Parts: sequence; structure tokens; C-alpha cells
Amino acid sequence: MIPLSEPTLDGNELSYLQECLDSGYVSGGPFVERFEQAFAAAVGARHAVACASGTAALHIALLVAGAHPGRMVAVSDFTFIASANAVRYTGADVLLVDSEPGTWNMNTELLHDEVVRRARQGKPIPDIIEVVHVLGHPAHMEPLLDLRDSYWIDIVEDAAESLGAGWTAGDLAGRQVGTAGKLACFSFNGNKIITSGGGGMIVTDDADLAARARHLINQAKMPGQGYVHDTVGYNYRLTNVAAALGNAQLERLRDRLRAKRAIAAGYAEWLRALPLTPAPKASWADPSYWLYSVLLDDGAGEPGDVVEAMGAESIQLRRLWPPLHQQRPYRRAEQIRGDVADDLYRRGLSLPSSAHLTEQDQRTVTAALAESVTRSNQMEAVRR
Ligand SMILES: *Cc1c(COP(=O)(O)O)cnc(C)c1O
Repeated sequence: MIPLSEPTLDGNELSYLQECLDSGYVSGGPFVERFEQAFAAAVGARHAVACASGTAALHIALLVAGAHPGRMVAVSDFTFIASANAVRYTGADVLLVDSEPGTWNMNTELLHDEVVRRARQGKPIPDIIEVVHVLGHPAHMEPLLDLRDSYWIDIVEDAAESLGAGWTAGDLAGRQVGTAGKLACFSFNGNKIITSGGGGMIVTDDADLAARARHLINQAKMPGQGYVHDTVGYNYRLTNVAAALGNAQLERLRDRLRAKRAIAAGYAEWLRALPLTPAPKASWADPSYWLYSVLLDDGAGEPGDVVEAMGAESIQLRRLWPPLHQQRPYRRAEQIRGDVADDLYRRGLSLPSSAHLTEQDQRTVTAALAESVTRSNQMEAVRR
């Protein structure tokens, strides 16, 4: 069986977990702060606040950025649903924005022009832009930076899938995802680039925002003796056990990223002759290739059929997400529509991308995929 994505646990995981158990600190404990500090340094941010999940991190980041009922938050239409759910938890309205073909991320130029138009007409504009860096590719940020500077719209990054990705040119050249917004969030779910079993992180350069986030994830408990709380908080802390795992994983981040980029280079090379569009890479981007994903050309088969055919060969592929505007909770959300997100869903597939995938595994995947799309091509020809 070649799975889509499984964690690589080959570092200090066991010894840190043992340390954790020996110490008796399984809920709160020293691994949490250590993880926060090492993570902030790895991303290039000043502060980090560990959370119980990436979704919890997003919820809190949006709250401290000012999301609440009556506010509008622009989100990528093409993303994992947690990006939008976190907005709804705050009571704010979701504005879905179509993708751009070059990166599959939010079409930030489309959003920019729409905001400028609305502002001129005196119509409501988003208060916050939650930009998602999907599948390991950073979003095109300059139009958003312009909206931030011209209209005071705050940027919150959902970098759950893109730890280690960055920009190589433009206003953010040399920076990593997580440093472009007022706040940014990461996930350490088992299938992400590094894992803590489950967990998330908020990063920010703003000490006040970090302190407010830390307060909210800790039941809004006031410092000092006793149980005094100044607002409705949340139990969103990361446990010491999870942070122990996270620390061990973070130590190996460089190796993980090197492996992901090598896997992407291998797929790009071996899939070149096939009727499909490879994973995007903009000239200004250094993607981390969390899940290497492709689009089937017309005639190369239906993604659902390919997933099934490959599954029969014990190779796990996955379709890309249906856009949020097709998902029941968001059908009535306001939308800046195009047809790119629909097209990504109609044609898209993620290929096995575990960091410890071997070259032999990759050749098995590409050979099976070649057979599957060739068969579909022939069937298509017969039908014609
Ligand atoms: C995984 C993911 C999340 C949520 O992270 P969890 O840790 O699973 O809660 C949010 N946004 C995106 C884009 C994700 O891929």
C-alpha cells in the first residue's frame, strides 16, 4: 500500500515522549513553550502561540483580528473547509473568492479589483482577508498588501498546508509563509508537513495580539490567584505530550522539506509525457509541495475513476476539494465567482507525497498513473 500521506516519525519523538511521561507533565508543560519558541524562529516570526488544532488557531487568530458578527472575511473558495468554518465560528460573514490558475490560490487580483470597485460605489468591503496557501504553494500577496495599505484590511494567513514555503521575488522576497499577515496559522494534524498528533500554531510579530490569543485559548483566565475570567474564552491549549512530538518533528523540518521538493521534482520529470498539468510553481515562489497535485487534461479520465483504478493497485490518490460554494454550509455565502475553483475540482488529484516515499514508490505511482490515463484516453477515442 502506498498511502497519500503519512507522517515520518524518525527523530526524537520517542525520547521526548518518554521525557514527558517521566516528568508527569502531560497537559501543560515545558515542551509547549519550547515548541512555540523554536517554531517562531523557524518561520521567522516574533511570537508563536500553540493551539489544540489548526482550526482552533484560525478561530482565535480571526477573533483577535477583529472578526465578529456583521464583519466580512474574504476566504479562498478552493480550500479545506476548516478555513471557512473558522470564520463562521466568529459569526462573521464569508466572502468566497475564486482561484487563479497559476497557483490555485485565491485570485488576489480579482479580489483587489472588486474591493476597489465596491469602495468607489460605497458598498461594504471585507474587514479581513484570510488568505490560504493551498497544497504548499504561497499565494500572490502584492494585491492584498495593497488592500491592507489602502483600505486597512487585515490579512490573516491560513498556512496550515504550507510550512516552509516562501517567496523568492516581489515585496516578500526571502520571507516564508506565516510572515505576510497580521497573524498566521499552521496545523500539525497527522497528514501535514510536521505533526504533533493534532495541533496548531498562531504566529505574529505583534506582542499584544499574541498575548490576547494566549489569553483566549486559556479560558480567558486572568493572571494571579483564583479563577477570574474577563470574557468567554476557549480550551484550545496544546498539550505537553503533543508539543513533545511537535518538537521532535520540527527538528527534522529541513529534511522533510528537502524530501517534499525532491518528490515534486521526481513527479514533474516522470509525469512529463502524460496528458496532465503538473503542480503549479510560480516564478516568484518556493513551494513546499505538501501534497503533490496534478490536473488531468480533458480526455485523460475522470479523477474519481483514476482514484478508484489506482486504489485497486493499492495506491492512494485523492481528489482535490469541491469548492466551498458547492458545499452545503456555504452555498448561500457571498461569492466573487469564476470557473477556476470548479475546474480544479473537476480535474484535480493529489498523488502520494509522504516525505519517506522512495524513488521506487514514485516510479510505481507514475507507471500506474500512466496506464490509467492511457486507458481513459483510449476509451475516450473509442467513444468518439
Ligand atoms: C488542515 C487544515 C486546516 C485545519 O487544521 P487542523 O489542525 O486539522 O484543525 C485548516 N486549513 C487548511 C487549509 C488545512 O489544510
